[in-house]
Amino acid sequence: MARLVMKFGGTSVANVERIRNVARHVKREIDEGHEVAVVVSAMSGKTNELVSWVNEANKHYDPREYDAVVASGEQVTSGLLAIILQQMGVPARSWQGWQIPIETDGAHGAARIARIDGGGLIEGFGRKEVAVIAGFQGVEPATGRVATLGRGGSDTSAVAVAAAIHADRCDIYTDVDGVYTTDPRIVSKARRLDRIAFEEMLEMASLGAKVLQVRSVEMAMIHGVKTFVRSSFDDPADPQPGTLICNEEDIVEEQVVTGIAFSKDEAQITLRKVADKPGVAAAIFQPLAQANVNVDMIIQVVSDDAKTTDITFTVPTAEFERARAILEKAKDAIGFSTLQASTDVVKVSAIGVGMRSHAGVAADAFRALAEKGVNIRAITTSEIKFSVLIDAAYTELAVRTLHSLYGLDKA
Ligand code: ADP
Ligand code: ASP
Ligand code: MG
Repeated sequence: MARLVMKFGGTSVANVERIRNVARHVKREIDEGHEVAVVVSAMSGKTNELVSWVNEANKHYDPREYDAVVASGEQVTSGLLAIILQQMGVPARSWQGWQIPIETDGAHGAARIARIDGGGLIEGFGRKEVAVIAGFQGVEPATGRVATLGRGGSDTSAVAVAAAIHADRCDIYTDVDGVYTTDPRIVSKARRLDRIAFEEMLEMASLGAKVLQVRSVEMAMIHGVKTFVRSSFDDPADPQPGTLICNEEDIVEEQVVTGIAFSKDEAQITLRKVADKPGVAAAIFQPLAQANVNVDMIIQVVSDDAKTTDITFTVPTAEFERARAILEKAKDAIGFSTLQASTDVVKVSAIGVGMRSHAGVAADAFRALAEKGVNIRAITTSEIKFSVLIDAAYTELAVRTLHSLYGLDKA
């Protein structure tokens, strides 16, 4: 007997028929004698709809009320799955975040889980009852108000519950049968990985692969939760193992590059003719930091006259307008001539722990992209990844080029 957490994402619970199929997966594990806690997302598209209603009501909404609205999608699917499991003869009960409780901090809309009391769930196993937990939501203890964990947060709910109840495994069921070398919807030659290292998965998720929420990977890594990504579309009677997220040492077949990720969630800002003197970078980036704007890639170019310089950097699309307003306001203090912006850019990244021991990995990419006529606007590198900022129109071409270059194409 093992103790399992099974998480089902939006497409997997998109309608009652799909929820019935999810219930069959759960029943299979119960019939094998396992203790099971389930975490569900909202039906696919539901959270987007709820978010759009909030924005329609008031763009400058109170984040506590945003959470009250957007957390509701998971309440529906947890109840529906409990009803269907009961109908199949599996004792089941739905649980919302506050009922467990899953305690969070007060950062509404992007809250972090602070503590989970797994006691009630473990007691439920004694009653042979399946807990069906609403993902994506918790409760801020100081106020008793519902708080959501940021988009894609049900993954984090699942891994956190698995850590809290000392589960043997956390299975993240989704609409693909594992983690691929790149998004299989974009590159048909993408290959499923049997295993991927925590660090690589962390980078893949941070750099745009939305298959797992970044915090879920962090949490799995910290608490050593054995996490698989697998498909809910498999026949419940013939499940496939999917991809294991594991320690680097547990990967036998090592490649220099493991995967390619991309993110359209980038906006480029260039400040022209900034005075080339000490203190200017601080004048630009301090006000942005104070306003919690996340600056990512930064490049500084020496201008012809040697007295001024151009500074280019990127911010997340959602923070772009705020960043622009802050910089325009600080224009005199910083001293630049014009602010140029582009939201039509994409960041393409290659990730692999093998980069630590291989030189020239990024240089190969620059050459291959140049040969395809793809212009690179900015570059960043770190120990196990590099990223290039390019025009969004070249996204697929660039991803495919790098995917082939590093030998990731499916045979
Ligand atoms: P869920 O609703 O189950 O949480 P998501 O839509 O959040 O599912 O994540 C699954 C999607 O992630 C896949 O349909 C796929 O298009 C996308 N994806 C992006 N990069 C990858 C990758 N490297 N491997 C697998 N899926 C990926
Ligand atoms: N329903 C939430 C979202 O769409 C959480 C999740 O699916 O993980 O972001
Ligand atoms: Mg998801």
